[in-house]
Amino acid sequence: KTFNSLDLSRPILKGLTSLGYVKPSPIQSATIPIALLGKDIIAGAVTGSGKTAAYMIPVIERLLFKPSKIAAIRVVVLTPTRELAIQVADVGKKIGKFVNGLNFGLAVGGLNLRQQEQELKQRPDIVIATPGRFIDHMRNSASFNTDTVEILIIDEADRMLEEGFQKELTEILEILPTKRQTLLFSATMNSRIKSLVQLSLNKPVRIMI
Ligand code: AMP
Repeated sequence: KTFNSLDLSRPILKGLTSLGYVKPSPIQSATIPIALLGKDIIAGAVTGSGKTAAYMIPVIERLLFKPSKIAAIRVVVLTPTRELAIQVADVGKKIGKFVNGLNFGLAVGGLNLRQQEQELKQRPDIVIATPGRFIDHMRNSASFNTDTVEILIIDEADRMLEEGFQKELTEILEILPTKRQTLLFSATMNSRIKSLVQLSLNKPVRIMI
C-alpha cells in the first residue's frame, strides 16, 4: 500500500513525494485514517517509527478540510525539547511545502523571546512548542491567542513527564479549548501516562504498534 490509498489531498501527496516517502510506516497506516476522522488517539510509538509524519499528515489535511478565513493558531504540538521541536517543524514544513499559506511557528526555550513573540503575533496555523516557553507566551503576550486551537499533539509524552513538565502540561490543558482533537504519542506507558491520558484525551483510540 502507498500513501495514494490513504485519501490525502494533492498538495500533501506532492510534499510526501518530494520527501521520498512512498509507503506509510505501520504507525502511519494505523494513525492517519483515525486521526482524519477527528478522533483522539493514544499511540505507542518510538523515535524512528515515523511518528512525526503520522500526526503531521492528518493534521495538515484537517486544516485543509476547513480553511480558516483569518490567521489563527489552530494546532499546537508540544515536545519535550527544543531540538525535537525544531525537527518536527522541519518535517511539517516539508510535508506542507505545497499547501498554500500554511505557516509554522516555534515557541521554544533558548531562542530569542522577542523575536518569537513577533513571529507568533502573525498567528501561524501550527505552533510547535516546549511547555515552559509556551506558558511564558501564554502569560506574558496579550496577542498569544490559543482560543482558536482545534488540535493538540503531545509528542514523546513519557519524556515530557521525565523532564518534569507535569505542572506545565496541566496548566496548558486548563487553558486550551476543551472542544478539540488530541493525539498523544509515547514510547512507554505507565501510570503517570495513564493519568495524563485521563486529563487530556476524550474516548481515545489506542494504537499500539
Ligand atoms: P520519526 O520517527 O518521525 O522521527 O521518523 C524517523 C525517520 O523516518 C525520519 O528520518 C523520517 O524522515 C523517516 N520517515 C518517516 N516516514 C517515512 C516514510 N513513510 N517513508 C520513508 N521514510 C520515512
